[in-house]
Amino acid sequence: MTVSLKIRDIQAIEIQGHGYSTYVRIYTNQDVTGTGECIHGGAGTPTLIHAMKDLLVGEDPMNVDRLFEKVRRAYLFDGAIAGNVISALTGIEIALWDLVGKATGLPVYQLLGGKFRDTIRLYADCGGRTPEQCAQRAKHAVSLGFNAVKIDIDDARHPCKLDPWNGSVTHGEQQLMIDKVAATREAIGPNVDLAVDMHGRYDLPAAIRIANALEPYDLLWLEEPIPPENVDAMKEVRASTSVPICAGENIFLRYGFRDLIEKQAVDVIMPDLPKCCGLSEGRKIANLAEIYYIPFAPHNVCGPLGTLASCHVCASIPNFLVLEWHWLDRPYWDDLLFGDAAVIQNGSITVPDKPGIGAEINSEVVKQYLRSGTEYFQES
Ligand SMILES: [Mg+2]
Repeated sequence: MTVSLKIRDIQAIEIQGHGYSTYVRIYTNQDVTGTGECIHGGAGTPTLIHAMKDLLVGEDPMNVDRLFEKVRRAYLFDGAIAGNVISALTGIEIALWDLVGKATGLPVYQLLGGKFRDTIRLYADCGGRTPEQCAQRAKHAVSLGFNAVKIDIDDARHPCKLDPWNGSVTHGEQQLMIDKVAATREAIGPNVDLAVDMHGRYDLPAAIRIANALEPYDLLWLEEPIPPENVDAMKEVRASTSVPICAGENIFLRYGFRDLIEKQAVDVIMPDLPKCCGLSEGRKIANLAEIYYIPFAPHNVCGPLGTLASCHVCASIPNFLVLEWHWLDRPYWDDLLFGDAAVIQNGSITVPDKPGIGAEINSEVVKQYLRSGTEYFQES
């Protein structure tokens, strides 16, 4: 007689990366586990996951969407619309998909409806504080094989910033922004896509002024020139410029993206899948964007496991544009996984065909990057 699959335990550990990632492992009554990564939930994420475990032990892990909604609805009065609760739940959801893939012998993209593409194009987030740094770092990324890069142009410490709280832009600040973009465009040439991030630090008139000033540089997008909360204001920025506008890294779930998409307030959306919703919900957000012909370019600062999880969604939708990679300064990217080949080849990732997410974390290396004072999974 076949014994049905049941969740037996869920554990979470924290790993140093872009801030801290949380790795979630789900154990069952059989010899199959699943591991996921979520990010930006903060130091309380493992505690939240531990509390959510009580709702999931004894459940059949194959019902991923139902389990996600079971936990989310249980937290309706505790932050189930956005924020750390959803990030923690996202880690569980991604681990569930890995588990279901392993239980069925199928890669996650197959469970999401199959793939439109075999490789996922990445852009390198290069940051940079000066025009020279932006140009040099972007050029370095291109030398690694990336054909799309992103730089940061906001600078809260700029000497011309007159008031740290208001969202205005002074002439000096604006000139530095233009200089950064001009130097980077010059360094990478016309054939590499260039995105520019403003981290939502400006007000509406400043955003429109800056967007107009950047029109000559053929940007892939201008990211969050204003905060994303006021969709009508974002739509006004979009209407005022020919520069494509992108937003969404701090928006959660389909409900959070609904207005942004339905009002067509942006040219590109950028949900952070291992933070804002997980893989199933992420695919639904992409599908919603698709009917408005809006491309999907997920934000991503995860290590390789969370990035590969995002790749399965990016493979399974037609309107994928490009996926972020934010580890230019952290050389241990590939070491976190078992395997000899680099995950990123020539600026892109081949979607894994192995069951589940298709990669396993290297326990010995991961143990070196645990949050100080915390422990690895206690194999139960
Ligand atoms: Mg951003």
